[in-house]
Amino acid sequence: MIRITDILDSVSSYHPEADLDLVERAYVYSARIHDGQVRLSGEPYLSHPLEVAGLLTQLKLDTVSLAAGLLHDTLEDTNATAEELTKIFGPQVTQIVEGVTKLSALSFRSSEDRQAESIRKMILAMADDIRVILIKLCDRVHNMRTLQFQKEHKQVRIAQETVDIYAPIANRLGIYWIKNELEDIAFMYLFPHEYREIAGQVARKKDEREEYVETIKDIIREKMTQAHLSCTVLGRHKNFSGIYQKMMAQQVSFEEVYDILGFRIILDTVQQCYEALGIIHSVWKPIPKRFKDHIGIPKPNMYQSLHTTVIGPFGDRIEIQIRTKEMDRVARHGIAAHWQYKEGKSVDENEGQVFAWLRKLVEEQEYLKDPDEFMETVRLELFPDEVYVFTPRGDVLSLPKGATPVDFAYAIHSEVGNQCMGAKVNGRMVPLKYELKTGQRVDITSSAKHKPSRDWLNFVKTARARSRIRQHIKAEERKQSLALGREMCEKAFRKYGLSLNSCLKSAEIRKVVESFGYKSADDLLAAVGYGKATPLQVVRRFAPNLQADEEQRESIVHKLKERIRRPKPKSGILVKGVEDVLVRYGKCCKPLPGEPVVGYITRGQGITVHRTICAHALNMDSARRIELEWAPETNELYPVGIHVLCHDRMGLLANITSALSTAETNILDANVITRADEKAECNFTISVTDAQHLEKVIKSIKSLKNVITARRTGI
Ligand code: MN
Repeated sequence: MIRITDILDSVSSYHPEADLDLVERAYVYSARIHDGQVRLSGEPYLSHPLEVAGLLTQLKLDTVSLAAGLLHDTLEDTNATAEELTKIFGPQVTQIVEGVTKLSALSFRSSEDRQAESIRKMILAMADDIRVILIKLCDRVHNMRTLQFQKEHKQVRIAQETVDIYAPIANRLGIYWIKNELEDIAFMYLFPHEYREIAGQVARKKDEREEYVETIKDIIREKMTQAHLSCTVLGRHKNFSGIYQKMMAQQVSFEEVYDILGFRIILDTVQQCYEALGIIHSVWKPIPKRFKDHIGIPKPNMYQSLHTTVIGPFGDRIEIQIRTKEMDRVARHGIAAHWQYKEGKSVDENEGQVFAWLRKLVEEQEYLKDPDEFMETVRLELFPDEVYVFTPRGDVLSLPKGATPVDFAYAIHSEVGNQCMGAKVNGRMVPLKYELKTGQRVDITSSAKHKPSRDWLNFVKTARARSRIRQHIKAEERKQSLALGREMCEKAFRKYGLSLNSCLKSAEIRKVVESFGYKSADDLLAAVGYGKATPLQVVRRFAPNLQADEEQRESIVHKLKERIRRPKPKSGILVKGVEDVLVRYGKCCKPLPGEPVVGYITRGQGITVHRTICAHALNMDSARRIELEWAPETNELYPVGIHVLCHDRMGLLANITSALSTAETNILDANVITRADEKAECNFTISVTDAQHLEKVIKSIKSLKNVITARRTGI
């Protein structure tokens, strides 16, 4: 177990003026608060934060990171509080510890590739300080190193999560030793058989290989010395997991994996690096397309180096990396290099420079699109503009920053979006325009009756939600326009004596629709509803001669009206002077002079007169309605029906007919039904001069003995 003094010594070695007091206080606090807790290994719990802090010194991190590393499990596993930590260690240390705790609280259901990528981004986005990630990585390294104490199923789960999530993060951040170690330990648990095989083979040929490595290193050193270049030469083998991946990817055996060995030449200046490259290529034949200039074009994670693969002295491939000491430092520590102590500079100042540098990198090197590289995610990770949230099932969804529950709902499914009524975030109701934050669990309440609102367009952030909402609103509008357009056209067609339905079924319809530039009859009707075409335009396409008809109709109405105005007293006709226009009386209501009436113009059939209270009059097309008045004096008689209910007595019918004739009416038709209850129902059609006359007739019949009721029929 590493001791606190080792850690303090290590810090002092790379940061002589370090505030060791902070680290010591964190150690004392951690020791006290974890007192009594033990790891599964049986060791005191304190060993874990100490090891993590030890790993952080390997990254040469500042004392704030070390203190946070020593305290990283206190909020999760003990009764320590954030307030207490702030009081003792200040807000910076506390925020980092809180960040690590927040990450530990996440649990991931899926390890699908796409999910893993989202989870990685989510972790990076959730950490507002990169040191949170570095501590989390060191935490994972120590947990992997002690994985043998976990139960078997947990070993596999943790190993898989490490491969899916944490090793790639270490890779992105350029901390390759952590990436390699995490991968190798996980490999051992996930593929124990394959691991033993490769480890065995690497070990078996160890002596042979070491001799070979020394030979190559000697040749390189000799050539460099001849060119007056002073350098350090390192030789190494690939990590086991890397060898295995290569065997799988290329479907080759262990012996066939050539570049198991790699060499590194470290020089002083960039110019020397290119000189060294020239020498290597003149000694050994380079393999085409294997040369990469990461000095001229640094990787987005700041990695710089020249890479080449050559055919070595014994005919096998050798991978060679050439870089300066500074580049090597960055290559070994990755992004952590920029949080390391540098003489004469405070950490904060350093940090500011790094962010400026990163930003510049992001802006200038947009063209670097390699998905394996840090580039495309730098923006997301260090300047997050995405949020990562959980579905109720534990899936991770990535949404743009500022996204709302409505965006979330549409990201799940269009239907969920369309029917989205409300939302819960971490179990609490929130407004639909609530801004989601990374790590939240979102639950959508939906109802089949619910419809998207136009207001949503004011706050949604995703193009998907926006287009789905627009689509839905458009469809709704079209439905309404179609119904309205159909109604308007039906009315217009009827007005001109045409039937819209038969026109729609006719052969002409296609031509008409095309002449408007639409694809279907529905499109045309909807266009009328939108107001893009008028119903009359549509009518005219079907009946080009309509204008003439229309004029004709207009003139009929005009003539009628003129005639109505011109009195023709002699005619005795009820409508003022329209005797030479065909006038018919509605059989339905049999209007009488003195009663309010309206006329209905029928082309070719003149005017039909109805009482204003007649159902037919009420349903009339207003365009064909014509106001009428009775002539002041008429001598005409008008037919009207009356119904009389009476006791069936001898001589009754005679009494009624006598009464009718006394009232100066003629009986046009009579019909008598005798009922079983000795009552009789009589229906007469009589002729009267006007409404008043009818009233008198009915009154006189009602006064007869044995008559129960008498009333007008028809209405
Ligand atoms: Mn831990």
